[in-house]
Amino acid sequence: MDKTSSDTRVKGRFAPSPTGRMHLGNVYTALLSWLSARSAGGTWLLRIEDLDPQRSRYEYARLIEDDLHWLGLDWDEGGLDGTGAAGPYSQSRRHDIYLEYFSRLRDTGLTYPCYCTRADIMATQAPHQSDGRVIYAGTCRPHALPCYADEPQRPHATRLYVPDEDILFTDMVYGPQSVNLARKCGDFVVRRADGAWAYQLAVVVDDALMGVSEVIRGNDLLQSAAQQIYLYRLLGLEPPQYGHLPLLCNSERRRLSKRDRSLAMDELRQRHTAAEIIGMAAAAAGLIPHPMPISPAELAATFSLKAVRPTGNIIIPDNFV
Ligand code: GLU
Repeated sequence: MDKTSSDTRVKGRFAPSPTGRMHLGNVYTALLSWLSARSAGGTWLLRIEDLDPQRSRYEYARLIEDDLHWLGLDWDEGGLDGTGAAGPYSQSRRHDIYLEYFSRLRDTGLTYPCYCTRADIMATQAPHQSDGRVIYAGTCRPHALPCYADEPQRPHATRLYVPDEDILFTDMVYGPQSVNLARKCGDFVVRRADGAWAYQLAVVVDDALMGVSEVIRGNDLLQSAAQQIYLYRLLGLEPPQYGHLPLLCNSERRRLSKRDRSLAMDELRQRHTAAEIIGMAAAAAGLIPHPMPISPAELAATFSLKAVRPTGNIIIPDNFV
């Protein structure tokens, strides 16, 4: 089912990086994305975002699939076995596809080789954002664009020029957004110096070719949506609708991570039923007033993304489970 088909149903997706076992925060993201697609009578796909060979593990991808199955969050397309027309559904197996779109991007004349090391970037960066993200100062930016320079042999990253203008879009949770990429991140990397594909390029190519019409994910990627919309524009592809979610945080106000052992799926599965864990994620999202056993299908019957408040982060108290 790709964009060329006449299927106009919503197609949502879950795109985990297999770098660890899922925790309640991942369950919450998967559940809301599943509910949004299913409550609209749509389909849902699973894509394994294993671009980073150092951190990704096949066994984690298997465990993610097992946890989703066990929770009752079923997918119609994708996964490690890659059923569906737009596969493969693991990013590590999509190199040739990214290469094709990377050359299309280079043909725009807006990409250029960048030789900066991490240390160079830290030393020359423009003042960086309060969240610690770095704004590239444009050190390697060519004096004149378009840049159709032959790719030199020396190892280099490839960056994409970004214009000093606002990218406008409406987020399904956070409402109207206006992001100036020049001020927020500067020219960004589309291919790393070691040849690895940048997340921004891969996610756009994948969501577009897989016919994804709706992207529900954590609000840490809200700015990325603007980078992605810019890439869609340059590649002549149609962007999906975006809906970003408040992040679940622990009582120290840090985003849930592998360190929060009591909320990791291996621990949770030993002490709770699938319906109880779904109830915890639903309560964290504000879909039900307090945690109680409930199935994804029961939640889908009355689900609306409007129930998710566009707040900052959601704190999970220590006694939550
Ligand atoms: N792979 C990313 C993650 O696990 C999600 C990317 C996305 O949803 O666009 O954080």
